[in-house]
Parts: sequence; C-alpha cells; structure tokens
Amino acid sequence: MDETSVQALTDAFTVSQIKRAKQSVSENKWNAFLSSTNHETVSMAHQLKGLQNNMSIYDSIDPDVVLDSLDLLKVFPDQHQQESTAAEDYTETQLRNLLHYFKNDFFLWMNAPECQHCGSKETKCVAHVQEPFEGRWTTETCRVEVYNCPLGHTTKFPRLNHPLNLLYSKTGRCGEWVNCFLMVAKCVIGGDFRYIWNVEDHVWCEFYSPHKQRWIHLDPCEAVMDEPLLYSENWGKAMSLVVGSGEDYMVDLSTKYITKNRITKPQIKQKDIQRCISLLNQTTLLQQLTRHNLQYLYVKAIVRKNKELKSQLSTTTQTPAMTTTIPKGRQSGSAEWTKQRGEDGL
Ligand SMILES: [Zn+2]
Repeated sequence: MDETSVQALTDAFTVSQIKRAKQSVSENKWNAFLSSTNHETVSMAHQLKGLQNNMSIYDSIDPDVVLDSLDLLKVFPDQHQQESTAAEDYTETQLRNLLHYFKNDFFLWMNAPECQHCGSKETKCVAHVQEPFEGRWTTETCRVEVYNCPLGHTTKFPRLNHPLNLLYSKTGRCGEWVNCFLMVAKCVIGGDFRYIWNVEDHVWCEFYSPHKQRWIHLDPCEAVMDEPLLYSENWGKAMSLVVGSGEDYMVDLSTKYITKNRITKPQIKQKDIQRCISLLNQTTLLQQLTRHNLQYLYVKAIVRKNKELKSQLSTTTQTPAMTTTIPKGRQSGSAEWTKQRGEDGL
C-alpha cells in the first residue's frame, strides 16, 4: 500500500472516530446538562441550540440565482461614490452600499398585509397556522399569519424561513430581513458573517473585517453598520441577552450590545447559559474538525474567539461610539409598534 492510500485510510479512520465521539460525548453531556438546570434555562438552551449551524444553509445556495435577482448596478454605484476612507476599507464600503440597496431598493418591511381582495389596509391578525409554501426555487412548511379585513376577506402572510423563498417574496420583519440579507451578502461580498440573536425579539448580523480584525455590527432593517450601541443608546431597548452564532463558534455578546436598561431574569441561570454555549461550541468544533484542518480551526475559530473574549473585558476596543447623525429610535416598523416595544428612543 502506498503512502497516499495509508494517509487516506488514516484520515477516514480519524473522521469516523471523531464522528462517533461527537455523537456519544455531546449527546451525553448535553442531556446531563439539561437535567441539571431549571425549566426556564432548559427552554433558553433549546433556543440557543436552534441557532447552532444556522449559517450552514447559505453554503448550499447557488450564488448565480442570488446575483441574477439583484440590480448590481445599484449595489455597486459609480466608482467615485464609493471611495473607501482611511477608516473603512473597500469591502466595508461595499457592505455599506449593499445595506442601503437592500433597505431602499430590495426588501420591504411588513407590518400587516393589505387585503388581497379589496385592498383595505385595516387588516387584523386573527390566527396562526402551519402550511406548506411552494416557492419558485424550494418548498417549505412555515407559520402563516391569517388576517381579516373589515369586510371579512382573508389574507395570509407566510413567515418564510428559506432564504431563497425570501429572495422571491422580498418582504417580512427582522427575521426575514436578516436571513435574506445574509444570503445576499455572502454571495455578493463573501467572507465571514454571523447571526446575532437578542432574546427580546430582535435579530441582526455581523461581518468579520480582516481590515479591522474584529466583528462589525450590521442591521439590515435599519441599514446601519458598526453601531453596536444602536439598541441600548439610540432605541432605548431593554435587553437581557445577546448571542452571536457563526460557523465556528457561538459567543455571548451582551457586554458589547447592552450598555443600558439591562433586564435581569432571575429565573435564568447565567452560569448555565455560559455552560450551554460552551457545550455547543465543543460540538461545533468537533463538527468543524471533520471538515477543516487544525491549522484552519486554530486561526479562524480558536484565536479569533479568544481575542474577542479578551476584548470584551475592555469595552473601549470592542464598542465604537454612537454616530450622532443616526435618527432617534427604531426606523423599521410602524411608530405604534416601535413605541409598544420600547424601541422608539423616548
Ligand atoms: Zn378585504
């Protein structure tokens, strides 16, 4: 047997061993963890587990389908309009352009759908159902909001989850916006992105800037970039936990994003949440070991994560100050809705 064959056999053996170890170790540890904590923390742990691997869907998407759906002349306007500054490199400027295009020319915010029979804007949500949705590129089963107008007509609003279906519907609330934006940004810009989840019902995303050597905040609904204090300082949003979930690791980003109005939830065991994130990271690392070599994981996951955790200890390096030109309060959604959610900045 030649050297290459031996190496291939060794690799295959290592991969199968890791897979087996991953299944038994992670499931046992995970179940032991769940039985060691209280009901509220278990429920939160399930939500965090749901975030794990949520970036992998974008890998399976054909970039040509996405690029064909965009007006690239608007994404990349005249060269002289998009010159990079010293503070922002070319990629970051492209991202800023993309955020503006996505909000102003591409995706629509949905408060409540107009009646599709009489055009009435006075529709009210009366029920939720689970229904299949047949999209142009893929089919999915999703939660559907059912609305009635004053004349009794019914209009349905499916809350789509597959980014390709969103590429066609081009409408939704923050979940749909971020989901579709991540797919578009990965196809147009490339690089590392991650999904950011706030327990108090908001999501956004981040991009890893090799230029700045740190993760940069991006909110597609607001077309705002690198303003992590947007929620606490500008909206006045009260939050308890913010978590980032990327391809390589999950991280608690509460200190980066929550600088005011922090909600404490005594029923959630903070130490157990940290343990949960650590367990999820162990399984992600094992999964990644079957796909990448150690050198890759060391540089991209381990060093980057440690650097990020270290920078959280010093808030000045992690959190840029809020730009004063941003209008006060949340811009996406109706005024009544943002007020009710405590996001109007007042
Ligand atoms: Zn109607």
